[in-house]
Amino acid sequence: MTGRPPSRVLTVWGETKPLVEWAKDPRCEVFYGTLFKRVEAEWDPVRAVTKDADRHLTVCKRGHSLVPENRYANGNCKKCSSVSTHAWYQANKERHKELRERWLLSNRDHLHVLQRRWYLENRDKHLERSRQWAANNLPLKAHYRRIRRAKIASAAGFATPEQVMLRMEFFDFKCSYCGGPFEEVDHAIPLSRGGSNWPANLRPACKSCNRRKFTKTIWEFRELLAA
Ligand SMILES: [Zn+2]
Ligand SMILES: [Zn+2]
Repeated sequence: MTGRPPSRVLTVWGETKPLVEWAKDPRCEVFYGTLFKRVEAEWDPVRAVTKDADRHLTVCKRGHSLVPENRYANGNCKKCSSVSTHAWYQANKERHKELRERWLLSNRDHLHVLQRRWYLENRDKHLERSRQWAANNLPLKAHYRRIRRAKIASAAGFATPEQVMLRMEFFDFKCSYCGGPFEEVDHAIPLSRGGSNWPANLRPACKSCNRRKFTKTIWEFRELLAA
């Protein structure tokens, strides 16, 4: 005897073989992992090997009608799912916030790509939305403007208008990232990331690059551009 536990077997349609073998069987519609979990949970064998195990059901456990509009592809009832999701959220708000933040952080680059794509495809909608938002949130907008001004004022360094123009001239008055028009003065290392107002940290950028760069450092942004 080896120390390994006996490999799990399953009997379906009068045929008994290990789960690994069932997973390879064309009649089995689920992957090994799913099959294993279902067998562990003591599902009925036929349901266990059926992908959409509850496709024959017309009502959920709580009696909601499982018409297509109320049924997820995995067979769950949309009404019940939203109720239980909401209940979990109510009971775990802190945890939800934590998970969401972690998810946002680990998907930051991917999200930027998606946002960028959405923006390019829906530029007008986006502009209209932000106009709407600004109109509805004038005090908030002023608040953010104040924060930004305070950040600029409290950051280390200082550049005279002449120095700024020299810096822009150094870059030929072109966006230092894409060669487009000089529309804004960008901080290579953003103030929010500890950058300074010294001339060396300033460079010309077009509006589009500057929005896209946002709080990334010049190196992070170059990486994104190269990707
Ligand atoms: Zn339901
Ligand atoms: Zn640019």
